[in-house]
Amino acid sequence: IIKVEKLNKWYGDLHVIKDVDLTVRQGEVIVVLGPSGSGKSTFIRTLNALEEFQSGTIEIDGIELTDDLKHVEEIRKETGMVFQQFNLFPHMTILKNVSLAPIWVRKWKKGKAEEIARNLLERVGIPEQADKFPGQLSGGQQQRVAIARALAMQPKIMLFDEPTSALDPEMVNEVLDVMRNLAESGMTMIVVTHEMGFARQVADRLVLFDKGEIIEMADPEAFFDHPKHERTKLFLSQIL
Ligand code: ATP
Ligand code: MG
Repeated sequence: IIKVEKLNKWYGDLHVIKDVDLTVRQGEVIVVLGPSGSGKSTFIRTLNALEEFQSGTIEIDGIELTDDLKHVEEIRKETGMVFQQFNLFPHMTILKNVSLAPIWVRKWKKGKAEEIARNLLERVGIPEQADKFPGQLSGGQQQRVAIARALAMQPKIMLFDEPTSALDPEMVNEVLDVMRNLAESGMTMIVVTHEMGFARQVADRLVLFDKGEIIEMADPEAFFDHPKHERTKLFLSQIL
């Protein structure tokens, strides 16, 4: 469902993504690891057309990502993204936050969009928060709203960039649980995270980025227990 070939990106003189190849099948969960500044965020932002790239190809669900704005719009509809910061609209209720984009982008009727939004709030475990405002919710609840909001567009792929890094420790698990359920439901996901328990349990494959390159790609057991590359061993020794 995702096919990236020979992807390269520069910020000015800085070569941030170097010849990256990655193919993801429908329903797969990929966890991306790597040191700070290794290009993880840049990579997933590029997949969602939030960043330009200079060479290589990206294909999402059969659509090639080119400069053509029409393709950019199509690809954004197919990929939901959740960031470290929840980026909810503070002056709108939770229900509005979740139903707004489908009304605007998918042109759904308000009633239908709100019904789906309520179902999604149920799914992320906070149906009772629908009429509150973001500032009245805990960080973990806000991030679950952000996940519901991304799902409201009915994406085929979900991209997560360190979704639990800004949360107090006691709220991390409630968000990871929602992500685990989403993975079990068959969603295709790429997740940048430092949560190694989640990575080991939920990922089909792990990818280690370093200095813009993919150093190692393997299933969790091979990655954690028999890493092939020195760089991976070093990285694991620093975080585990
Ligand atoms: P972290 O774990 O800290 O989030 P990361 O792996 O997500 O790091 P990126 O944010 O993708 O790393 O950054 C990759 C490199 O690109 C870094 O050297 C960073 O300084 C640089 N960079 C990121 N965004 C920009 C930008 N808008 N302009 C110039 N350089 C940038
Ligand atoms: Mg990052």
